[in-house]
Amino acid sequence: MKKLTKYVSLIITLVLAMSVLSGCGSSKSDKKKLVMATNATFPPYEYVDGEKYAGIDVEIAEAIAKELDMELQIEDVEFGSIVSGVQSGKYDMGMAGMTITEDRKKSVSFSDTYAKGIQSIIVAENSSIKTADDLSSDIKIGVQQDTTGDIYATEDYGESAITRFKSGADAVQALKTGKVDCVIIDNEPAKAYVSKNAGLKILDTSYADEDYAICFSKDNEELLNKVNDALKKLKDDGTIDKIVAKYIK
Ligand code: GLN
Repeated sequence: MKKLTKYVSLIITLVLAMSVLSGCGSSKSDKKKLVMATNATFPPYEYVDGEKYAGIDVEIAEAIAKELDMELQIEDVEFGSIVSGVQSGKYDMGMAGMTITEDRKKSVSFSDTYAKGIQSIIVAENSSIKTADDLSSDIKIGVQQDTTGDIYATEDYGESAITRFKSGADAVQALKTGKVDCVIIDNEPAKAYVSKNAGLKILDTSYADEDYAICFSKDNEELLNKVNDALKKLKDDGTIDKIVAKYIK
């Protein structure tokens, strides 16, 4: 009997210890969530590394969430559904190497800018396309759907010149197999793709210069202001420079 009492008290102690431990674990999720929509096919800004999301935007978002005492939750969605999802309140913010454009500003508000982007042109090493001036409506241009590369190239060269892909990686694959003659995409992802795929190069001439920012619902000015304050602090204390330097050598 005495032995049994000893076992029972041991079990009770164990159960109590486990509930205290799991309670500690869940204290993290008591924090308010900051739901960020992104498209994790855009190295070095956002990509999947093993089981985790990694990249400049991911780390800046984590630093912002820490400043706001919130818990970051990342939703990996198609690039083209970020703005509408943020506008409808499905996500708190969109961060995806996203360029501020007048058209997007009709649907969402943008934070202060935190990085610059350049639309670059990737071609095969032996391509006859030497500069941006060689692009024309007769050339097959690959783009990632709904990006500024897609929007600007469609404006400049017409619908029939454009082949749209779900990701930059798919567009680069099509370039390698000769299905398109060039790919227009942001410079840092361009560098990342070219370094991983032999036989491709980036033209020296760029196609467009842009500013990246985080987008919010127009109804959520409070969060926008808080994020701008956090961004300012992270710029001033060197955190953003440090994160960028980790990914862009
Ligand atoms: N900067 C480009 C845009 O905003 C591409 C972004 C992306 O593909 N993630 O359209």
